[in-house]
Amino acid sequence: MAEKTVFQRIIDREIPAEIVYEDAECIAFKDIRPQAPFHVLVVPKRVIPTLNDLSDADAQTIGHLFVAMRTIAAEQGLTGGYRVVVNCGPDAGQEVMHVHFHMVAGRKFGWPPG
Ligand code: AMP
Repeated sequence: MAEKTVFQRIIDREIPAEIVYEDAECIAFKDIRPQAPFHVLVVPKRVIPTLNDLSDADAQTIGHLFVAMRTIAAEQGLTGGYRVVVNCGPDAGQEVMHVHFHMVAGRKFGWPPG
């Protein structure tokens, strides 16, 4: 069996995380190396390694993550807005091979991104 991703281990409660939201399909927890005052990772419970591994059957799950982020933003009081980032592959700097959305807030973000 393939080794579990660090995010799967958080989902399975094998390692700790500061969980801010969870439902049947996804979990959201604070990034261990925050890049903004608010930095949460929103992760589907089903392991999909990268965006390039998505199938048509995953469309509902990915849509669900955006709805979850709307809920998280409301619950966490992100009234000034937030940015959602997905890194896919080595050029984007993806480290964890388990699809995740970075939700960052609490400061101004530049454009274009670095
Ligand atoms: P990425 O580069 O898009 O794959 O992002 C992976 C993110 O996971 C990084 O921002 C890390 O800081 C974060 N990370 C890695 N291990 C943990 C962990 N145990 N708990 C919370 N965040 C983590």
